[in-house]
Amino acid sequence: MKHFSPKIITWYNQNKRDLPWRNTKDAYLIWLSEIILQQTRVDQGMAYYLKFAEHFPKVKDLAKADNDKVMKLWQGLGYYSRARNLHTTAKTIHTIYKGKFPDSYEDILSLKGVGDYTAAAIASFAFNKPHAVVDGNVYRVLSRVFGIETPIDSSLGKKEFYKLANELIDKKNPGLHNQALMEFGALQCKPANPDCSVCPLNNMCYAFAKKLVADLPIKEKKTKVRNRYFNYMVFRNKGSIAIHKRIAKDIWINLHDFPLIETTKELSEEQLLKSPEWKNMLGKTKYSIKSISTSYKHILSHQKIYARFIEIDCKKSLKTFLPKDLLIIKESEIQNFAVPRLVDLYLEKNK
Ligand code: SF4
Repeated sequence: MKHFSPKIITWYNQNKRDLPWRNTKDAYLIWLSEIILQQTRVDQGMAYYLKFAEHFPKVKDLAKADNDKVMKLWQGLGYYSRARNLHTTAKTIHTIYKGKFPDSYEDILSLKGVGDYTAAAIASFAFNKPHAVVDGNVYRVLSRVFGIETPIDSSLGKKEFYKLANELIDKKNPGLHNQALMEFGALQCKPANPDCSVCPLNNMCYAFAKKLVADLPIKEKKTKVRNRYFNYMVFRNKGSIAIHKRIAKDIWINLHDFPLIETTKELSEEQLLKSPEWKNMLGKTKYSIKSISTSYKHILSHQKIYARFIEIDCKKSLKTFLPKDLLIIKESEIQNFAVPRLVDLYLEKNK
């Protein structure tokens, strides 16, 4: 056990990627990178980190920004609650903490959008406090090296891994230890087919010795996935288009999309046109359907969205018959609004 941290740190010093948030001790920038990298790969998150750091170099810049601007910059990264929490937390740090990022683990943990993992990452990377980070990479490495078969998504497993991670931490260099362990999981002890022959831990690794690398770590639950069918109505009249700001408690809050009929199964065109929702929306308005797109599939952690876009040319001005909560804008103006990735793909394809 005592060789674990030195070996990981030596490996890290020889193999680490040069990532911009690793060259700073600024807790604000570290927090920014950690929020962006939650559920996002490093190569995808990098451009967003650079963009946010450039637009908002200090926490006060982010705190004072317009929410629509924050959402627009976040567009395409997904899990939009992160962007909303990021903005709320920047305001909290600006007002309650007078612009100075809190340095105690408990205060960091109390910030919106910051869980155990992120709090430990910020506390150790920025302030060198001995709190172990336990992310997916860490679970994998520890379960393989120490042969832990307790499911990583059980409350017992969480406690067990958390306890071990804190026992293993290098108290003098907790930030370095945490970074090294996470990077080791990301680059060396990968989920599938790691190259164990070159691994510096192979002489102490339980999974390697017992040929259990592919079986560890163990997960208890399979995530239930819900299918949703989005029938987007793209109304047009004389260069105008109708869009909708999503404010309900659902995915994509504060992003914009089109008026929508959602169903739990796929409807034929005939079924859709006869549905009460369709009739409700169009009433007696004269229209013609210009096109119906093929299905766009978008996978989220608990949902699969199948969307199609129905382009509808209307004879009357859109304001006269569509619900008042819709925004009627010039078609070219849609570029100024933050939209979900799915809608962005459709717009790109139909430029
Ligand atoms: S020997 Fe293989 S399974 Fe074990 S820590 Fe190294 S890469 Fe991971």
